[in-house]
This record gives sequence, structure tokens and C-alpha cells, in this order.
Amino acid sequence: MNPTLITDAQNTWCPGCGNFSIQHQAKQVILESGIPRETIVLVAGIGCHGKIVDYLDLNSFYAIHGRAIPAATGIAIARPDLKVICFAGDGDAYGEGLDHLLFAAKRNVDMTVIIHDNRVYGLTTGQYTPTSPPGYKGRSTPQGNVERPLNPLELVLASGGTFLARAYTRNLANLHQTIGAAIRHRGFSFVDVLQICATFYDIHDYYDARVYELTDHDPGSYDAALGKIREWDYAKDAPIALGTFYTRQEPTFAERLPQRETVVDRMERIQKRLAEGV
Ligand code: SF4
Repeated sequence: MNPTLITDAQNTWCPGCGNFSIQHQAKQVILESGIPRETIVLVAGIGCHGKIVDYLDLNSFYAIHGRAIPAATGIAIARPDLKVICFAGDGDAYGEGLDHLLFAAKRNVDMTVIIHDNRVYGLTTGQYTPTSPPGYKGRSTPQGNVERPLNPLELVLASGGTFLARAYTRNLANLHQTIGAAIRHRGFSFVDVLQICATFYDIHDYYDARVYELTDHDPGSYDAALGKIREWDYAKDAPIALGTFYTRQEPTFAERLPQRETVVDRMERIQKRLAEGV
């Protein structure tokens, strides 16, 4: 058993990339959690973030672009005994795969979704994404993005998400705490991580000047969560709250489904029949 969880794969992220922080804090949370490693499954989409499953020595699945969440949903339904942690980028989850994100929240699928939200398509050299701010100049918007960005936390809250949080790759203690709380949550947990893209969109000065940690906040209140989520709408020069905005407990999607034979039970039944020569 690899005690560090780090693989021998060559790391090709750019120096200074926020992906390193997410990888390190996720690894630390998993090591501290006591969750048996054989019961953890990582799922990733396409993008710079996706390499995280190459760098962590755990069961993993690479999905096609925008489809990390449906792949993770299938695993969570078929094997509710597993801990499913899904990594996706902002382009991946808020662009190509937005509908999957909202339906996973609506269904309260028992999994954790961690978004590496660097607000650009880094792997394809800096095109704008659904969370790029107005004026962002990239390969596909050389004169500046003219769209308003999505507020993913507001969308997931409205869709029924039962755990919503925001973290930042340069606030390591809060990132660690937030990923830990998300993984401990039973149901759909969602963390939007403001991630530095060192090569195409390094706005750490902007974030450093605005982020603060939620304190005097009731995460059981939908209205309080909505207010805090709307405080920073990406276009304004407003403070940016970090931490858990909202959480509640309710039955998961797998628990609501009609009783059925699990994959493990079915395999055991088939093996028994084969052994009996039936
Ligand atoms: Fe990280 Fe950006 Fe480099 Fe991708 S392009 S590895 S997101 S710094």
C-alpha cells in the first residue's frame, strides 16, 4: 500500500498552478479520513484538473469532456458502499456538463464534486469559460468577454444541493477544512474552488484582497446561504466569502430508489449459480 498516495506519474502542471493545492489538500483529507482506500473512487473530466487522478494512487475513472458527473453518479448508484469523489473543471462542469451537475444536485447523489474553477480553459490555452468575467481576453475572446458569468453556487443551491461551499487555492487551511467537510457529508456535496491558473489567468492579487472566511453564518438557512452566495457576483468589486454556505441532511438518490439487487449481490448470485453448475 502506497503510504503517500502519490504516484510515479510525471507531473506536468505548470509551476504555481492551483491544482497542486487541491491535489495536496484532497490527499491529506483522504489520508486523515480513515476511509478504506479500496472503497474510494476518484472520477475526473477532461482538462488540466483531470490529471489529478494520474497523480493520486487510488481507484479512478477518466470521463469524457463534461461527463465526469454522470459517470460518478452511475458509480454512486451501483455501489453505494463506495466513497465517490468527482473532480471537474469550470469549463467541464459549468459548460459541457452543466445539466449533469444540476441533476446530480437535484437527486442528492451521494458524492463529492470538487470544481477546479480557474475561470479559463487552461488545457486548450486560455479560452473563456462560463465563469470568466466580463472583459476577460483569451484565445476565443481577443477583444474581451462580453457575457456575464454564471454563479455556480446559486445554481446548485436552487437545484437542491445539500452541501455547498467555496474554497480558494491560496487559503490552504480553509481548503483542507472545506474538502474534509464535503467528503464527510452524506449526499451531494459541492465545492467550488477558486483556482489560480498560473499561465493563463493568474488573478491571485484580486482574490487575496477580497477573500474572507464565513464566521457568523447559519449554514442551515437557505436564505442566509443565498445572500452570502450573491454577495460576490464575479462582476463587482465585492468581498468573496469562503467556507460552507449551506448544508442539510436528506435521503440520498440511492436510498430513495426502489429496493433492488446491488451489483455486489448480483455478482455473488451469479458466482453461486456457476459454482452449482446451474
Ligand atoms: Fe494549471 Fe493553468 Fe497550467 Fe493548466 S494551464 S496546468 S490550469 S497553470
